[in-house]
Amino acid sequence: TVRVRFCPSPTGSPHVGFARAALYNWVFARHHGGTFVFRIEDTDKARSTEESYQGMLGAMRWLGLDWDEGPEVGGPYGPYRQSEREDLYREVLAKLAGSSYTYDCFCTTEEVDARRKAAGSKVQGYDGFCRDLDAEQRAAFEAEGRAPIVRFRMPDGSVTWQDLVRGEVSFETEFVPDFALCRANGDPLYTLVNPVDDALMRITHVLRGEDLLSSTPRQIPLHRALVELGVSEAVPEFGHLPLIMGEGNKKLSKRDPQAHLFMYRDQGFLPEGLLNYLALLGWAIAADRDVFTLEEMVEAFDIADVNPNPARFDLKKASAINGDHLRMLSVEEVTHRVLPFLKQAGVVGDPVGDADAQLLEQAMPLVAERIGKLTEAVDLLAFLFVDEADFSVDEADAAKLLDEQGREVVRAALDAVEGLPTWSTAAIQEALQASLVEERGLKPRVAFGPVRVAVTGRRISPPLFESMELLGRDRTLSRLRAAVA
Ligand code: GLU
Repeated sequence: TVRVRFCPSPTGSPHVGFARAALYNWVFARHHGGTFVFRIEDTDKARSTEESYQGMLGAMRWLGLDWDEGPEVGGPYGPYRQSEREDLYREVLAKLAGSSYTYDCFCTTEEVDARRKAAGSKVQGYDGFCRDLDAEQRAAFEAEGRAPIVRFRMPDGSVTWQDLVRGEVSFETEFVPDFALCRANGDPLYTLVNPVDDALMRITHVLRGEDLLSSTPRQIPLHRALVELGVSEAVPEFGHLPLIMGEGNKKLSKRDPQAHLFMYRDQGFLPEGLLNYLALLGWAIAADRDVFTLEEMVEAFDIADVNPNPARFDLKKASAINGDHLRMLSVEEVTHRVLPFLKQAGVVGDPVGDADAQLLEQAMPLVAERIGKLTEAVDLLAFLFVDEADFSVDEADAAKLLDEQGREVVRAALDAVEGLPTWSTAAIQEALQASLVEERGLKPRVAFGPVRVAVTGRRISPPLFESMELLGRDRTLSRLRAAVA
């Protein structure tokens, strides 16, 4: 049965590449009825932080990607944080150290560099000096007080695999130097622990970013050794997901603000909208369709369909897809999702008062269809909830639309609606239409723009007549008066 893993290093804030890898692995597991393992690669103690670890868990929860085994959930192959697995690594390291797959190496980095330089070699990394030390050479190093490290002996020839995304990939091992598995003090290195975890956790498929492609020719021979030594049963299959390119066709860097996942959450993306967009970074459900649900993706996903070419990250497209997902939700659901943002902005209280709750219920249908992100609802709705004393008009919009001519229009609007016997959308619309458009011959844009700015404070608002009805007669009239005062 399929067992995949998602194994971020908690060394920063979760980014887009993190989320795409998580998504593809999760979907692959769900499609095959397999197991999705979540592992934390915090072997690098200097760079790993608790805050980042919490961020990784929070990101997965926000995205709604649940894990079958991992932190807080547990599972048969735990613990799932590398920092808690050291004994396991030492055990496996001892097995490797006692085998022909490794050798003790006494060289310092300086010695290796000096030898490489003297030989005019272009190859980076270890030169195999200690591969075949005899007892005498060993004894001499030990007499100097040197402690050896365990180094993996790369096989001769080439390492070739059928990559699940890229097809056949092959590396000549002459360019893949023997690599260290631990420090001189015996501390296991990442080169050891990442494949050992995959082996011990019985991972069947490793799906990860293309940036890790060059570690695969080291890991496959190590996996083969682990199988031979009885540590695991099989070498996993590997698939490398396409690079994600940002602006100017450069690799999306962690420095790009749009690389950071929580930016999307904070800007009011829906997790399902973002997941849909992330899915498109290397995969398509159909040639003519790019909006779909997670369930549809689970149903249709085939790793063989993933495009190996770099994927371009496009924020505009991400927003558009998110808007499509928003429009798939009921007004009640949008309200539910918008509420935390309204509270956070102080537009409504927490808990929401009865009057505000009622107003919100009436107002949401006016905006639910018009927003691309949840935060946009905050900007569109704030004018309804603000205390009259705190209401202000956007300065730039006022400068454009409440000039002499604009104020003239507002004055006429005030005259037209002041004495209305009933304060309803239809009555307001009829009165303004008659006075501004029919009597004065103004184009609708010229007629209603200034009124909109006066009443809602902004040039962009929910529909004007409905907004005026919801705002109520008194508040509307006082804002119109303030605009012409
Ligand atoms: N911990 C690695 C990273 O965050 C992932 C390694 C892997 O997928 O093999 O980049």
